[in-house]
Amino acid sequence: MDDADRAQILIDKRLERSLNEVLSHPHEAPLDDEGGNRICVECELIIPVKRLEAVPHAVRCVRCQEVIEGQR
Ligand SMILES: [Zn+2]
Repeated sequence: MDDADRAQILIDKRLERSLNEVLSHPHEAPLDDEGGNRICVECELIIPVKRLEAVPHAVRCVRCQEVIEGQR
């Protein structure tokens, strides 16, 4: 195994990890209120329908999502 192989494995691992982060959030099931509205798991405000049309699996409002992404 040479350096190129090792580098490729590192890249694959990193890619796999970020893919998993995006695809599977078992602890982040979408929340709905009694009225059937999707609510943000962070601030519990209703997520606008427009956002859900754009991101159907969204569990956070835009503001909380930006905060979370800003932390990375
Ligand atoms: Zn929120």
